[in-house]
Amino acid sequence: MMAARPRGGDATRCPACRAPILRQLVGERAALNVTADLTPLTPDQQTALREPNRLIWCLRTNRFGNRRLTWLDPWHPPDCPHGGIHVADHRCPPADPTTLF
Ligand SMILES: [Zn+2]
Ligand SMILES: [Zn+2]
Repeated sequence: MMAARPRGGDATRCPACRAPILRQLVGERAALNVTADLTPLTPDQQTALREPNRLIWCLRTNRFGNRRLTWLDPWHPPDCPHGGIHVADHRCPPADPTTLF
């Protein structure tokens, strides 16, 4: 994924941990303000990360290069059939006082 460059201006960095994230309103009626990681998850990782308070999203790129987060329906296979990637809600890694700064 080295050639992938963010387009559409919706990719940003977490102000707290500087991880690349995507902020987007998801849903039509009750839109949810989502902050998602941009790291593609393997099916195993999706199973491991999924919990009631942490959702997995399907991130698809349309032909204009715009990225869009969509709900992952329960029947949506962990291996994306739409050519997208599956990402999790962003969580800052725990602060590590030994991190070099
Ligand atoms: Zn998908
Ligand atoms: Zn963060």
